[in-house]
Amino acid sequence: MTLWPGDYRGAWTLAASVERRGVGLHGGATSRVRLGPSQRPGYHVGWLDAPHLPLQRLGPGQVCDTRLCTALQLGERRLATVEHLLAALAGCGVSQAEIHVEGGEVPLLDGSALAWVEAIAEAGLRPVGERQVPEVPAAPLTVSRGSSFAVVLPAEAFRVAAAVEYPQPAIGAQFLSLELTPQRFVEEIAPARTFGFREQVEQLRSAGLIRGGALDNALVCDGDRWLNPPLRFPDEPVRHKLLDLLGDLALVGFPRAQVFVYRGSHGLHTELAAALVTAARLPVLSA
Ligand SMILES: [Zn+2]
Repeated sequence: MTLWPGDYRGAWTLAASVERRGVGLHGGATSRVRLGPSQRPGYHVGWLDAPHLPLQRLGPGQVCDTRLCTALQLGERRLATVEHLLAALAGCGVSQAEIHVEGGEVPLLDGSALAWVEAIAEAGLRPVGERQVPEVPAAPLTVSRGSSFAVVLPAEAFRVAAAVEYPQPAIGAQFLSLELTPQRFVEEIAPARTFGFREQVEQLRSAGLIRGGALDNALVCDGDRWLNPPLRFPDEPVRHKLLDLLGDLALVGFPRAQVFVYRGSHGLHTELAAALVTAARLPVLSA
């Protein structure tokens, strides 16, 4: 069993390299990802199929599409569906790593972060001193989109909360709040899978999206029932929302703060990450 860091105060990287391959949700093509140690803070992306291109440090300035997943524009290359991988790294306490990718999309695997957590456990963690933590303003920081909003307040530890509300009775209203540690992330958040709605599936397929999406890597809700039970948690959807939020916050690093998101989306989460960069007066990293 892996001994995860006790909290998010120290800086950690991977002790070795590890590789995974799988199908991308939207393009449907097989891609490969190699994770490895980094000497520098943050997450740095390079390309297995173009090793001459320089590594790029990830940041909210690179977000270029948030419709179904979080996609980044990295120079001339685009990388889609980064959120579950980044959530796994950041959630497990890995604050710096190199990510080498083949293709334009991170594999979806089972729709959760579990396979990435297993890969990180296989590589092992190595401490690399003090962590750079983004500063949070004393006054509440708020971003909103329509009726959705997110708010951040400074706190001693990292506490996250999310609420979702759907008309479909199988989901309905769900709320979850927890003081996050790597251990709690691994047990309570990482296994929660992506979910979608039956009526959207055909629509997205005909639009040429979710080519790799199938009943084995996303929970599909049909009104008052799930097409592919059993769920891993009774409130798996709100846990997956937290997983997505953590993946998007990984672009700036986990703040010492309390974060609450009502009806979150990748658009809202990445706007929050960008607002944290501005508030902390960090340099905005762009491609
Ligand atoms: Zn997700």
